[in-house]
Amino acid sequence: MGVLPLPAKKINEAKAMELYNQGLIDTDIARCLGLSQTTVTNWRLRQGLKRNKLKKVCIDCGKQFETICRGAKRCPECRRMKYILYYEVVKLRCMMWDLVKSDPLTAHKIVSEMREEEGEEFVRKYLGEKILNAINQKVNVLAHAPGE
Ligand SMILES: [Zn+2]
Repeated sequence: MGVLPLPAKKINEAKAMELYNQGLIDTDIARCLGLSQTTVTNWRLRQGLKRNKLKKVCIDCGKQFETICRGAKRCPECRRMKYILYYEVVKLRCMMWDLVKSDPLTAHKIVSEMREEEGEEFVRKYLGEKILNAINQKVNVLAHAPGE
């Protein structure tokens, strides 16, 4: 005796169209109708409909943007900025580590200036605790070293 395949769930086209017209994305239409996303996407493509996008508000600039990604928090411009910023931060930290090792007093001076100009929060965020602690340690050691 063979196992009969489950009949494919029929899509309620009228309901699907109604949800589509409300701006729902495929995943959400599928959830509402208890179908797989593939079923909905195939149906939508057969209808020749473009996929809907989610409307979201960027957490950085507050502008509204469209996305197909439910988890997206930032508009494309802010996302790009964030990556550039991240890259810059990595570069900055690498340079500071080198400086902490080779010339901790200069590193300390730079951090002090940064603190004055940008504030404590900025320094902590962009340099990180590890670097700040390392600088403090090195400077303390130097301050208590005999001679000089
Ligand atoms: Zn933005």
